[in-house]
Amino acid sequence: MTNNDINTQFRSLPSVEQLLQELVLGGLAGEYSHAAVVSLARQQLNDTRDSIREGKNAPALQQLAADIMARAEEEWSPWPRPLVNATGVVIHTNLGRAPLSEPAMAAVNAAAGSYSDLEFDVREGSRGSRQAHIGRLIAEVTGAETGLVVNNNASAIMLGLSAVTEGGPREVIVSRGEGVEIGGGFRIPDVLMQSGATLVEVGTTNRTYARDYASAINENTAAILKVHPSNFRVIGFTHEAELNELVTLGRERGVPVLNDLGSGCLLDTTQYGLAPEPTVQQSVNAGVELSFFSGDKLIGGPQAGIIAGNAEWVDRLGRHPLARAVRIDKMGLAALSATLTSFLKGEAHEEIPVWRMISMSVDTITETAEGWLKEIDSPAVSLREGQSTVGGGSLPGETLTTTLLAVTPPDSPDAFARRLRSGPTPVIARIEDEVVVLDPRTVSDGQSATVVEAVKLALKA
Ligand SMILES: *Cc1c(COP(=O)(O)O)cnc(C)c1O
Repeated sequence: MTNNDINTQFRSLPSVEQLLQELVLGGLAGEYSHAAVVSLARQQLNDTRDSIREGKNAPALQQLAADIMARAEEEWSPWPRPLVNATGVVIHTNLGRAPLSEPAMAAVNAAAGSYSDLEFDVREGSRGSRQAHIGRLIAEVTGAETGLVVNNNASAIMLGLSAVTEGGPREVIVSRGEGVEIGGGFRIPDVLMQSGATLVEVGTTNRTYARDYASAINENTAAILKVHPSNFRVIGFTHEAELNELVTLGRERGVPVLNDLGSGCLLDTTQYGLAPEPTVQQSVNAGVELSFFSGDKLIGGPQAGIIAGNAEWVDRLGRHPLARAVRIDKMGLAALSATLTSFLKGEAHEEIPVWRMISMSVDTITETAEGWLKEIDSPAVSLREGQSTVGGGSLPGETLTTTLLAVTPPDSPDAFARRLRSGPTPVIARIEDEVVVLDPRTVSDGQSATVVEAVKLALKA
């Protein structure tokens, strides 16, 4: 297109006023504020001018108005939008990690719409602490003296390192095999630096002994930090120092031991045919001063960073100025307290969705898959054995046997998977060997109808 043509196309575009009149007819201008609709109309016009510059023709007035309506629908509908996770990845970081239990959802709902005793001592009628109740629950489920909760595990570690290095020695000793990147660009060495600590790496990538830590301790040592390499595995000629060796060493030399567990497992994973994931109880029993873990990985609760440890150290973290900056909100606390209560009652594997999915039998899964197969009733679908994963940076390389619904689409697997995502409730599937597979393990009972409908519709297209 010549500059002249582009100018002609620009002139054929409607004014914001003309667009607004059209949007009044469409009902959008009545539903949202004038300023919001004007701003959206301007954005759409700007984008349209960009596409004209790239050689496209100017759309008609009605088309522009329709595009704005679609944009409003997309941008102003409730968000995050619920969807169906048929990937078989139980803790899927991109899909919001752990879905909450029924009791946790009820607790969030109750705390959200009402005043509460979040920081109020009802008996005394005076100010209370938002950490007291949850601290006791953490103590009860983990065996630690007390606990503290912040916004997420990354901020918990940041707070921990800031507090142990404050106003004193700054060196923190970490194994060379554990200066890792957790995901989303969260790197242990960077966090150490941010907190003002000085990283002292010991050992080698594959082998680090307690004696390596011992020889690095001096008057500048603030702490020993152990990090669970949660999202990868080093196999072969490897060695890592045991927690109790480090605790013994720390006690002898007056250095606290901090343990970043990552996913924070409270149950024995071997009963579900998985490799043993280190538990919080083991960390606490070993005598670690501070154990750090996430609320929304294997705890199966809300986003949160949980610290379990001895009272003196936990209190020190709670008093640090950074604690206020990484404070957890009331809805997170409500959800976490309900989730931890499920563990106290011994009902985690029934009440908490991630544990229900992990402990689900292949027979139950097969039954669901057979139901889908029957209702979809198409030669393009079949069942096959497959593997689910726990995800969320826990149990790398470990899988759970499952039964998958496999769809051989009439066109490309990518196009079919896209159609599955395009409904009002998107269905997220996996592509395996050019076949689209859906895993019932991560689909709740109430979502089966959505899956069946979405597959039928996507096959028709
Ligand atoms: C996931 C993870 C973190 C970060 O936890 P968030 O709750 O996502 O902030 C830190 N350390 C380890 C080892 C992890 O696996």
